Amino acid sequence: MAPCWLGAGIFMLAVFDVEGTVAEGEFWDQFTETRGTAAAAMNGEIGFRQVMEQRFNKIRGMKAVDFMERAEAVRPRPGAKKFFAMLRENGFETACVSGAFDFLVERIAREVGAGKWVANRPRVEKGRVTGFEEPLVDAQGKREFVEGLQQSMGFTKAETIVVGDGANDLEMMKAAGLGVAFNAKPVVAQEADVAVDGNSLEALAETIARYQAGMRQRHRVLVAGKLEKKGFEDAGINAAFYDSLDRKGLLEKIRDFHVLVYRGSEKIDAEVMDAAKKLRLIVRPGVGLDHIDLAAAEARGIRVVNTPTASTETVAEHAICLMLSLLRKIPQAHASTKAGKWEKNAFHGTQLAGKTVGIAGVGRIGRAVARRLKAFGVRLVGYDPYLHPEDFADVGVERMPSFAALLAQADVVTLHVPLTQETKNMLNAKTMASMKKGAYLVNVSRGKVVEEKALCDALEAGRLAGAALDVFPTEPLEKCALHGFDNVILTPHIAGSTAEAVRKISEETAARILEFEAGFKAGSETEAGAGAAP
Ligand code: NAD
Repeated sequence: MAPCWLGAGIFMLAVFDVEGTVAEGEFWDQFTETRGTAAAAMNGEIGFRQVMEQRFNKIRGMKAVDFMERAEAVRPRPGAKKFFAMLRENGFETACVSGAFDFLVERIAREVGAGKWVANRPRVEKGRVTGFEEPLVDAQGKREFVEGLQQSMGFTKAETIVVGDGANDLEMMKAAGLGVAFNAKPVVAQEADVAVDGNSLEALAETIARYQAGMRQRHRVLVAGKLEKKGFEDAGINAAFYDSLDRKGLLEKIRDFHVLVYRGSEKIDAEVMDAAKKLRLIVRPGVGLDHIDLAAAEARGIRVVNTPTASTETVAEHAICLMLSLLRKIPQAHASTKAGKWEKNAFHGTQLAGKTVGIAGVGRIGRAVARRLKAFGVRLVGYDPYLHPEDFADVGVERMPSFAALLAQADVVTLHVPLTQETKNMLNAKTMASMKKGAYLVNVSRGKVVEEKALCDALEAGRLAGAALDVFPTEPLEKCALHGFDNVILTPHIAGSTAEAVRKISEETAARILEFEAGFKAGSETEAGAGAAP
């Protein structure tokens, strides 16, 4: 049966142990004459390091020229060049790994056209072989090589196939989606994911092609930004993870990915999308879509989704934390007491009960804040032009006809709007003039919703009693006037940072990818909505 290749559309990595797979069987014997050792090694009766030592003992003291001459006899096995060429034509990057010597493995890798290789170095002193050097002194070294290739070339575990014939190849097979025991002893064949009996490269090609076909439904997923891996692993998604990628890194890495999960501050615009020829889905973990050029995505048929509910409760809790801290001067009192002072009269606060709290943006987080505030015995007023009037009553919020009306009533204003053209600088010098004298401001939405200079002026003039901010027009926040106010509390965009939210975000992100792979379930409400981003 001819292998059913998918062609270059599905990119994968295939790593081969050289001996027995790429070069003639047991080629070590051609210069070390250690047949017994080779058999014991393949069976796993002795460890890799022991094998290496025994083999090197055989050649220790040999003249380097004689040794290299004997090594010349080692050649790629018949059909190996064609086999590697076929793999490359069908979307595979290929690599060779061997406990043998670097000069020999390099030659074989070059002859078959394998892109990468790794092997040990013989140590030669005064023209004689005296030993060997790392990196492959144990089986772990082979595994590290495979993992290093995955990391540098952007391959996932699932996209990696490892082929070997010895017990010491089992370790590196653990780094692969498919570990193939090729013409191996039963003890290795049993441990590997699949065994190809006999010495046929055609049979090996069939096995590899079958696995590649199984990848048809799987998309290459690039995760840029800190996200918990577990949510992806539990969903069976083998993604390439990068804690952070700057624009240059993103443009370089994204080339062959179908799915981008992006949690950073770079703008995902037409340039990024065009660098990723196969990009079909962008997942923005969390709520805001303001970093993504939605029009550019739509023009290219790229779906954009987010995980809007994952951090709602966590963010709402942070808003409440900031509100209470602001009114009761907790951070200031804490700093003073920690400094050894006892300033009992310096931190007279303001009671929340009995006050009017104005919620701008009565969406998921705004409502979660409202639910919590009810317990504090406050009057809740809200402004949200896109919310049905009945929905205000459902959460016990009085609907205000305008932002100015909300500002005029509220002792505390808390912002929970998305960043849009409409909400950019919605709290500015003009609108701030409508605020009650001595009001407080809490902002955990987006920094650009508040005009920073106007806020500083209002604080300076004493029109505002204080502000608590988690978000800023430019982040990280640089030294600015805000740092100078005692009545301002600043947190570094951590409203969504709890263990629970982080876990939920990665689980929901994985769920969005699975939905996409399944052709998007009808009624998914996670697509980018109107007014989500400028
Ligand atoms: P949401 O979409 O459920 O709610 C936003 C609400 O704002 C909607 O009801 C919408 O109708 C309303 N709105 C839109 N334009 C408005 C306007 N001009 N005036 C008043 N209301 C308007 O979103 P959410 O899940 O509640 O999140 C709100 C925002 O919180 C996000 O867009 C994001 O920017 C921010 N956020 C910040 C953090 C953080 O770590 N600080 C974490 C998550 C979300």
